[in-house]
Amino acid sequence: MTVSGLPPYDDTNIFARILRGEIPCRKVFENEWALAFHDIAPQAPIHVLVIPKGKYCSFADFSAKGSEAEIAGFFRAAGEVARDLGLEDPGYRVLANMGDHGGQEVPHFHLHLFGGRSLGRMVPAG
Ligand code: 5GP
Repeated sequence: MTVSGLPPYDDTNIFARILRGEIPCRKVFENEWALAFHDIAPQAPIHVLVIPKGKYCSFADFSAKGSEAEIAGFFRAAGEVARDLGLEDPGYRVLANMGDHGGQEVPHFHLHLFGGRSLGRMVPAG
């Protein structure tokens, strides 16, 4: 079954390959639930991606099908990453692009953490 029109999980997506160690990343955090690494094309002084270890293609997929342990473990890890990066004070932005209208490019669920400068009220239209 697909979720919100997205295709089934594609094992060849770039983040799946990073998780398998086939492609390098600038890792900032890893535990049993999540991997976090610097975005290859940062859009803020700090731009880190946090991805779950499980095979979920989007926020819709993860929120619908992730186990309680996966969801709790993942979101706690994301908060820990932001804390460890020193972003809690003065603050940061968390963003998940979902599907076509959300502008999602990589079909493995991920959170963007943006920080290091004042980001304004919302992300500018692209
Ligand atoms: P999306 O648009 O799917 O929410 O965001 C995908 C993000 O992944 C983009 O910000 C893009 O720069 C980043 N990205 C794409 N390929 C790679 C890669 O190979 N390594 C890293 N670290 N980031 C990537």
